[in-house]
Amino acid sequence: MSVLVVGSLALDSIETPFGAVKDAVGGSATYISAAASYFVNPVRVVGVVGGDFPREGLTFLEDRKVDLDGLEVIKEGKTFRWAGRYHYDLNERDTLYTDLNVFEKFDPKIPEKFRKTRNVCLGNIDPVLQRRVLQQMDNPRLVVCDTMNYWINGKRAELIETLKMINVLILNDSEARLLSKEPNLIKAAKVIRGMGPGVVIIKKGEHGALLLTEKMVFSAPAYPMENIFDPTGAGDCFAGGFIGWLARTEDTSEENLKRAVIYGSALASFCVEKFGVEGITDLTYLGIQDRFREFRELSRFDED
Ligand code: AMP
Repeated sequence: MSVLVVGSLALDSIETPFGAVKDAVGGSATYISAAASYFVNPVRVVGVVGGDFPREGLTFLEDRKVDLDGLEVIKEGKTFRWAGRYHYDLNERDTLYTDLNVFEKFDPKIPEKFRKTRNVCLGNIDPVLQRRVLQQMDNPRLVVCDTMNYWINGKRAELIETLKMINVLILNDSEARLLSKEPNLIKAAKVIRGMGPGVVIIKKGEHGALLLTEKMVFSAPAYPMENIFDPTGAGDCFAGGFIGWLARTEDTSEENLKRAVIYGSALASFCVEKFGVEGITDLTYLGIQDRFREFRELSRFDED
């Protein structure tokens, strides 16, 4: 089973208390598709880069067997750029700049051979573009969407239109509060579910994630880590692992949604161990399953 991913391909400049990088390969589509590729093949990417996007960024995805036929390269254009600074509390991040560049005029065209893809992941990107992608798809079975404060603040009405067309929304706790205008996360999820998605996942940084449907609340633990170098991409890797597992198993039952949340959390935990995409470069399916099992042990206890 395949997955189609739309999102940003970026050059990221990141500062953390442990170091800094300039113009590193990143972007929501890059992280999501690499993470999902550990579960399914092919992963298909729709996006745009400028002539300045380094060859190594494409090689990284090609090595993961990601199909780049939906990637537009605008030779005379500049790639999307984002810069962020993390504090000692790595849950806190300031965006220093967001330069949309080639994304400003991007009009996604889904190649014919991509249109029947059954699982779609709308990575963090302008909600108008997310919708344009969906409008060209031929009745996908599962649509998972990620977003962030930049779009909740800047394109709220457009985002609300997109939410009507999706099955699962993934966002972090502060974004859930911002979108729902409700401080309590359980109530916030209810408000958001009322906007369209039947399933809402709220990530709480190093405190795990909540999965909420009409009938259940599932609380996933976070993987206890001593060495978090760079949280960039953790949310995207979560989304990639989540949809990758659901696509691989073709099962969206509540029990399997819980497993998908743990696979998402596992991919995110690998991501933050190193800078940029390095943490998700050389994983193995077996290594991912080992971490999945460690998650199970984390919150298992006997009744008596
Ligand atoms: P995450 O840490 O999972 O929230 O995602 C970080 C990635 O999102 C970085 O690689 C950025 O290039 C990308 N990103 C940040 N802001 C935006 C935005 N407004 N639109 C699209 N992608 C973005």
